[in-house]
Amino acid sequence: MLLCAPRGFCAGVDRAVQIVELALERYGAPVYVRHEIVHNKFVVEGLRTKGAVFIEELTEIPEADVERPVVFSAHGVPKSVPAAAQARNMFYLDATCPLVSKVHKEAEIHHRRGREIILIGHAGHPEVIGTMGQLPEGAVRLVETVADARAYEPTGDRPLAWITQTTLSVDDTKEIVDTLTERFPDIVAPHKDDICYATTNRQEAVKAVAPKVDAMVVVGAPNSSNSQRLREVAERAGCPTAILVQRAADIPWDALPALSRLGITAGASAPEVLVEEIIGAFADRYRVTVETVRTADETVAFNLPRVLREPVVS
Ligand code: SF4
Repeated sequence: MLLCAPRGFCAGVDRAVQIVELALERYGAPVYVRHEIVHNKFVVEGLRTKGAVFIEELTEIPEADVERPVVFSAHGVPKSVPAAAQARNMFYLDATCPLVSKVHKEAEIHHRRGREIILIGHAGHPEVIGTMGQLPEGAVRLVETVADARAYEPTGDRPLAWITQTTLSVDDTKEIVDTLTERFPDIVAPHKDDICYATTNRQEAVKAVAPKVDAMVVVGAPNSSNSQRLREVAERAGCPTAILVQRAADIPWDALPALSRLGITAGASAPEVLVEEIIGAFADRYRVTVETVRTADETVAFNLPRVLREPVVS
């Protein structure tokens, strides 16, 4: 069994989960969380049992609980969300990953400089909704595919700029960017890639392992963009069978080919305990030896919001 490294939790997910846990410790239950804090059922259920209440919109918080803390998820939120929280005098903690906030700031700068902004991403993903919601409607236009990039018609004669969702396929995005750059040579690019270090590193590790294994198991949720991309990257890198599973109970044993070598990785929102559970399930059926294939070392860590770092005064 070849275990991809890096895999699993990234610094943004780690920070977001810690924010909810610390808020529960400090302020007691309930702590409201807008949207799944990260796209993983196991993580969400764990926090729910500790007293987190997951909602999709702030309007679901009853007036009697308006003073309870509310946490915004790692994916980021449109500007209208903190504005609505302020209007109701809510105490909110923003768990938006700092690398998503960086993209929000880029969008604002482009807008201030009069540029038309193209966001490369997946329609309906909460991060895309959050990034588009940093600016007035129509200021950011979505491009999802190379075909969209080929068909893109600027709305006027303003200069163009592109930004991206943080969890895309590095290779697909390059094709879209190449198409845009070929059509609009003056288009402004980000100074540093918007696809984050964690997404890039996990895809690189999968590319190193995928050609050597009969199947690749990606531990992650179906609504996790970076996990879905890992499954696609494994297939494109030559792995005949790549499957996405949330827990050991989901492994489709009958759909697996004859295995002499298996690869395992995990999306950025999947905790290591689930990887261990899945290794255990294979160990129950096969004779397993585990070798780690590491393609990068990660040392990124993000600060918690100031209010959670300050000592508690009693
Ligand atoms: Fe942040 Fe990247 Fe993790 Fe998303 S995947 S939370 S952008 S570090």
